[in-house]
Amino acid sequence: MAGLYIHIPFCRKACHYCDFVFTTQTRGVDEFVRAILLEIDQRCKEINDKPIKTVYFGGGTPSLIGTKAVETILRKLSLIADLSHVNEITLEANPEDLNPEKLRQFRELGINRLSLGVQSFSDEVLKSINRAHDCHAAKKAIHDARAVGFDNLNLDLIFGFPGQDTEQLDKDLDAFLSCSPEHISAYSLTIEPKTYFGRSLQRKLMKETPEEVMAGFFLQVRERLLKHGYEHYEISNYALKNKVSIHNSSYWINEAYIGLGPGAHSYDGELIRRWNTSSITGYSQRLVKQVGYFETEQLSPKDKANEFIFTRLRTQKGLPKSDWEKAYHLTESQIETLEQLIKEGWLMEQEGHVRLTEKGMLHADTLSAALFYD
Ligand code: SF4
Repeated sequence: MAGLYIHIPFCRKACHYCDFVFTTQTRGVDEFVRAILLEIDQRCKEINDKPIKTVYFGGGTPSLIGTKAVETILRKLSLIADLSHVNEITLEANPEDLNPEKLRQFRELGINRLSLGVQSFSDEVLKSINRAHDCHAAKKAIHDARAVGFDNLNLDLIFGFPGQDTEQLDKDLDAFLSCSPEHISAYSLTIEPKTYFGRSLQRKLMKETPEEVMAGFFLQVRERLLKHGYEHYEISNYALKNKVSIHNSSYWINEAYIGLGPGAHSYDGELIRRWNTSSITGYSQRLVKQVGYFETEQLSPKDKANEFIFTRLRTQKGLPKSDWEKAYHLTESQIETLEQLIKEGWLMEQEGHVRLTEKGMLHADTLSAALFYD
């Protein structure tokens, strides 16, 4: 089984923290959709190699290109591939793009999971990060989505904005919980160099939230969401029972995925990775001219083993020790490190799985790296 990801790189405004592949120039949408159709044609054999389990329209802002363009892409896929095994079709959407009619049309196209870029319900925060919507638009989008039958809703939440305190975060969490989303993706604000915030930081016009404050926010979010019945199934993801993201979960168990569109990555589930050019106009032009628009790399067995450790450790289920041993063979030094990290309370071993403790969750990347193969 494989997941199919389609990257839609158009946005209304550039959010101050964003370093994804996107453009605010929306004139190229038609050309872009034609390029996606060409890529689907070119990768027809690969798309048909394994049954498609999930489809995910991510971005950028997929809701911005409208229902017709999404329909065109889905229709093309259904012509060349068997979509009868698809059990989840997610569309990332921003509140300002939605209205009841558009949402109804997305439902009719088979979109059964909506991921809304809410980020915060505070108008002050939304303005400070340059989002294109306000709190009212977010609440209306959620209400309208429910009214047309979306029963699998993810809301994105960001915490750790400059100047945020625990009281403000608590208020925001109240607002998120009052919407009863089935899923919440909660991210700490990271400031990347090539963003507005990154440049402001370099010019000393803003201050980053200190690491220990961010750790406190992470635990505050976790505590509130666990109390409300959410399962913390991956470091940044919370879901009510049976509402985990099937598409994203496949990344964390190293299943195959196919990424279409600029900057999209693909993985064959074995050793081959591939990524498309992240130049948005370059992507469309190269596909039309039939010149190379992607690069590939072959993972070494060591890379693959380290990726197994890195991805599995982020999940609530953790690293299955018997699979680890069988596929990659634990070294003596890994066994020693593991024992030490368990003794120090960063990791735990339960039912044959190595898992992060709550304190370990705050240092997941460092702990994975400590277990990597040299
Ligand atoms: S809408 Fe999403 S992808 Fe677009 S700039 Fe904002 S965060 Fe980035």
